[in-house]
Amino acid sequence: NADNADLKALIRTIPDFPKPGIQFRDVTTLLLDRCGFSSCVGRMAAAAPGPVDLVAGVEARGFLFAGALADRLNAGVLLIRKDGKLPGATIAEDYALEYGQDRIAMHADACAPDARVLLVDDLIATGGTARAAVRLLRKAGARVVQAQFLVDLPELGGADALRKDGVDVHALVAFE
Ligand code: IMP
Repeated sequence: NADNADLKALIRTIPDFPKPGIQFRDVTTLLLDRCGFSSCVGRMAAAAPGPVDLVAGVEARGFLFAGALADRLNAGVLLIRKDGKLPGATIAEDYALEYGQDRIAMHADACAPDARVLLVDDLIATGGTARAAVRLLRKAGARVVQAQFLVDLPELGGADALRKDGVDVHALVAFE
């Protein structure tokens, strides 16, 4: 079951969301399935590269995977949020969207220098979000030992770009 077909079957595709021509891969159907979610997190944990200090999740669906995975790996959880939501002193990173730009942030004191951090999100598409998260974590002094995703959309090139940034990338499911 190397292609995780059982997990892939639990992900629903919604055509034309959020706009015409986009096939949205909806992981909420996998989250609803107790076996599916548990297997997903178990396989993510099995793919982790040894011990990690922190699992970093990107708002919002990434938080779900980060919390569950951190529990399995006996690690802490580091929240990467949209700018303006975290109460303490933050550092931020901008990234380009199709139209305009966005900014993510983390608490400036969230990780010790050289902390081993595993980044997780539900899906990687163009890689804009994950690459910004890696830049942010590195700015904070972290060692990003791996980035994991439930879903990769390889045609959009995000995983390859992240690998060129020097990150070990792992995804359970791919949609061509
Ligand atoms: P990227 O920055 O282009 O790689 O887009 C990835 C981010 O957008 C992730 O945080 C995803 O949650 C979200 N995203 C983009 N496309 C989809 C999709 O088809 N399904 C679910 N989330 C998506």
